Amino acid sequence: MSDYTHSLPSLLTAIQNTINDNADEVAQLDAAIGDGDHVINLQRGLDALSSMSDEFAQMAWSAAFMKIGMTLMSTMGGASGSLFGTLFVSMAKASKDKALDFAGFAEVFAQGVESVKQRGKADIGEKTMLDTLIPVSASLLSDAHHSVAVDIALNNAKTVAITGMQSTKNMLATKGRASFLGERAIGHIDAGARTSQLMICAIADHLIG
Ligand code: ADP
Ligand code: MG
Repeated sequence: MSDYTHSLPSLLTAIQNTINDNADEVAQLDAAIGDGDHVINLQRGLDALSSMSDEFAQMAWSAAFMKIGMTLMSTMGGASGSLFGTLFVSMAKASKDKALDFAGFAEVFAQGVESVKQRGKADIGEKTMLDTLIPVSASLLSDAHHSVAVDIALNNAKTVAITGMQSTKNMLATKGRASFLGERAIGHIDAGARTSQLMICAIADHLIG
């Protein structure tokens, strides 16, 4: 990855497209076991980011991550707004004065996911976005450690994102609104796990292509 963020505007467009294309499905997922607003929250955050797209292209990664995180926190609302916001604010701190080659990025992302765990007091297996984010982070770290080629690592990240998202279907929820439903949450995929997977797959496809 280069020091500057030229690719951010087009990445952001790819992310918005995949969320918009799957908005009805995500709305239904959150309606089934939450309050139905997750995709609207996320679209509001992405719209705010897209209005700043040109600024991002001129920034260093750390500054861009910070601006993305602060913007998501102040515009999205919902549990997911503070959690996605935390992800990027933490990545901003971790990437300060750090070379963002593949291995560096994997470490920065892992730090961001760790902060989401702390903020949400949640871990893998609780039927949340973390069931997508944690396996992706682990896969990137492991592939970077073993010097796997970036395109292969991105494909691996897609695979584990999809498996992780699907794994939420048969889980009981122990965090978030779905936790109020007990056994009735079983059989539904978590909305935040799905949007996290969609965004990760869009980013990976964009970088591979
Ligand atoms: P809200 O639940 O406040 O309406 P959203 O609908 O925007 O917020 O986001 C819900 C998503 O947030 C869930 O699908 C889940 O993935 C994620 N989430 C909720 N609580 C937590 C938590 N404590 N830790 C991690 N993720 C969480
Ligand atoms: Mg909701």
